[in-house]
Amino acid sequence: MIYFDNSATTFPSDRVRAVISDMMKDEYSGNPGSLHKLGVSADKAYGETQAKVAKLLGASSDEIIFTSCATEGANTAIRGFMSRNSRAGRRVISTRTEHKASLECLSLLEKSGYEVVYLPVGRDGKPDLSELEKALTEEKTALFCFTLVNNETGSILPLDQIVSMRNKLSPDTKIYLDAVQALGKMPIDLHKMNVDMCSFSGHKIHSVKGTGVLYVKNGVRIDPLILGGGQQKGMRSGTQSLLLAKAFEAALEEAVETMDDSHGNAAKINEYLRKELAERKAVILSPEDALPYVLNVSFEGFESETMLHCLEIYDIFVSTVSACSSKAKKVSYVLLESGVDRKTAANAVRLSFSRYNSMEEAEQFIQKVDVIYDLYAVRK
Ligand code: PLP
Repeated sequence: MIYFDNSATTFPSDRVRAVISDMMKDEYSGNPGSLHKLGVSADKAYGETQAKVAKLLGASSDEIIFTSCATEGANTAIRGFMSRNSRAGRRVISTRTEHKASLECLSLLEKSGYEVVYLPVGRDGKPDLSELEKALTEEKTALFCFTLVNNETGSILPLDQIVSMRNKLSPDTKIYLDAVQALGKMPIDLHKMNVDMCSFSGHKIHSVKGTGVLYVKNGVRIDPLILGGGQQKGMRSGTQSLLLAKAFEAALEEAVETMDDSHGNAAKINEYLRKELAERKAVILSPEDALPYVLNVSFEGFESETMLHCLEIYDIFVSTVSACSSKAKKVSYVLLESGVDRKTAANAVRLSFSRYNSMEEAEQFIQKVDVIYDLYAVRK
């Protein structure tokens, strides 16, 4: 099997599997809210995990909220912030190339009378910063909502420029950042990055599904999405899962340890595939300066889904548009919004890599693409 669909999800690493199996023991199964010793030890372990995750992300322990996934993080941050901070203004600035987890929240806000300004995005996947500057001088803006690494193309947000523009022109505006596809793939230091809220997902970094983290900077107030017993500073009620928090910690720790080697490996695979595919007249849609873990490519003559299923015959797994919307048989809105023409976008396939992929797999992939092209030419 060649699994080039790591931006959709990853398989749990051995270290994560070992942690999960260990955490199934009775001694870790108490409720962190219980007053007896099982509860106290679970609470202590939970706090240690929070501290470790915070350290790895450049944050403080009390800024880390464990969630079920990044979609929950986006909902909590965007909706929770806007609902809590009515005096901050009724305007949000974002782009139409965000993940649906953010876009659906923004659409709900619009239906409730908020204004959302969507900045145009170029072929490089980056928002137009002159439009951002203009928008900031027009009216008070409560929130920015951006993605650090786009899940379909790998394009990287010019975060430093955006943060300095905010600091200079509208210092009270808060920033929500979706860092799902950046986690473990580029350095993350939340205090240095100077964002106010940021979401992450465990299953994209070889943890398990059902675990995520939302960072909320100290001093930033949000209304919780989930009400109840007031766990996690009241920001996310519900009995904390030590098992899932530990599974996130283990995956993050491993991702950080292996980040440099992993980046080098992805860069080599990406460079090789870009070259080989371009020679085969495929159109490379990921920008040159994208993170190398994602390579979006359009195969002339093959609709996205056709190519996906042709590759699947050889046990090669890729995505068409992002996994959550791929069943809807749509052409990628991210590519269309970035100015890719509909015909090219309709043939786009996303290859996404992890540290477990190899150059041998990349070579086999190219061999199979050749076989598919040949079969297709014969049928024509
Ligand atoms: N944001 C981005 C950029 C993503 O790629 C994804 C998942 O594909 C999400 C948010 C949602 O993450 P989750 O599956 O943890 O809800």
